[in-house]
Amino acid sequence: MRILVSGAGVAGLCAGIDLARAGHTVEIVERANHLRVNGSPIDVRGDALETAEKMGILGAVHEHRITMTEQTKFVDRSGAAVAPLVMQEINETSDDTELPREDLMSILRQTLPGQVDLRFEESITALADDGDRVAVTFASGREAAYDLVVGADGVHSAVRRLVFGPEKEFAKHLGVYVAIGDAPGQATPGEARVTEILNLPGRLAGVARYRDKALAIFEFRSDPLDYDHHDLGAQKRILAEAFAGIEDWKVPELLRAAQDDPDLYFDALAQIHMPSWHRGRVVLIGDAAHCATPMAGRGTSLALLGAWTLAEELTRHGEDLTAAFAAYEQRQRPHAAAAQEFAHGGADLVVPATWEAIEARNARLRAAQPL
Ligand SMILES: Cc1cc2nc3c(=O)[nH]c(=O)nc-3n(C[C@H](O)[C@H](O)[C@H](O)COP(=O)(O)OP(=O)(O)OC[C@H]3O[C@@H](n4cnc5c(N)ncnc54)[C@H](O)[C@@H]3O)c2cc1C
Repeated sequence: MRILVSGAGVAGLCAGIDLARAGHTVEIVERANHLRVNGSPIDVRGDALETAEKMGILGAVHEHRITMTEQTKFVDRSGAAVAPLVMQEINETSDDTELPREDLMSILRQTLPGQVDLRFEESITALADDGDRVAVTFASGREAAYDLVVGADGVHSAVRRLVFGPEKEFAKHLGVYVAIGDAPGQATPGEARVTEILNLPGRLAGVARYRDKALAIFEFRSDPLDYDHHDLGAQKRILAEAFAGIEDWKVPELLRAAQDDPDLYFDALAQIHMPSWHRGRVVLIGDAAHCATPMAGRGTSLALLGAWTLAEELTRHGEDLTAAFAAYEQRQRPHAAAAQEFAHGGADLVVPATWEAIEARNARLRAAQPL
């Protein structure tokens, strides 16, 4: 089949690898002008480790794993440690491998078969599925027809909007925004892997250090905000406003680092819940179908698993796309539902809404593991 994949994140690259290896002709279009590799380290866990093995990338994933245990400390406004974060609160099992997001992205990019046509600065603007083919119009003005279109374009998926309806019908906002940027000035190469977090009511500012890197991390509680999801300038303004006037600890330096990062990651924590992930010759995978939010720590594993399952079911069912999509959904849904469930309660742990809630959280953490 001639298959178009929208989005070159983890889900899109995995789909490119798995579908091309299954013998399909694959084209991937990515809206950005480069692979978006930044973000905090991510986990490959559970069944996704087995998928990585089947894809032949498990060795590379292990080679790049971060072995050092993360020490997470909550600090007060002067920077003094006030509570440790017991990692079991976040890590369900030890059955996971953590590696920098940029490393996983480069492993996938290197694994992508040469015949896959990967096009940057390109995106779908219109889709017409006549039952036999999907006619696609691109932002560049190009037009082409495909047997199948895979939406792997993330939580704000254009394929989902064009085929299934507006985002607000499927998005469930968890009431928190997140921003992650490079903070090179905060790096302490060779030292222990330490994450420090300052909470103010409804806000979190932190620095995460691993290897020779440091990341500035921000979260803040907010109702849904109206802005263009692709407008980095607007995202930086929102972040600056959310932390305006806060001079405590390292907040001003961390904010400056985030403002200076040309690739800042900023988004709402919003889950995607859909009754079906396929319509006609169009199917969704990864965050486009079932975003669980970074709060779940499972988005990457779901993306690996979903792309693999889709490719496997397409091979099994041949021309019968409806049967293949239904089988893919049936296998993938329990994983997505479990991940989405896991994200609930995360905001209360990491971004308590009041000083009282911050104090209560700290006291609970100190009781579980003294400083
Ligand atoms: C820059 C970045 C940083 C991230 N950092 C973290 C993190 O620190 N922790 C965490 O848990 N999760 C993070 N995530 C989310 C995590 O990568 C996903 O939950 C998971 O890997 C599933 O990925 P996905 O491929 O479905 O979606 P995504 O990773 O969101 O990838 C979607 C891709 O599609 C592209 N795209 C978007 N719209 C279009 C369009 N209209 N046409 C073509 N392409 C389009 C995007 O540029 C992106 O490359 C991050 C995502 C991104 C993009």
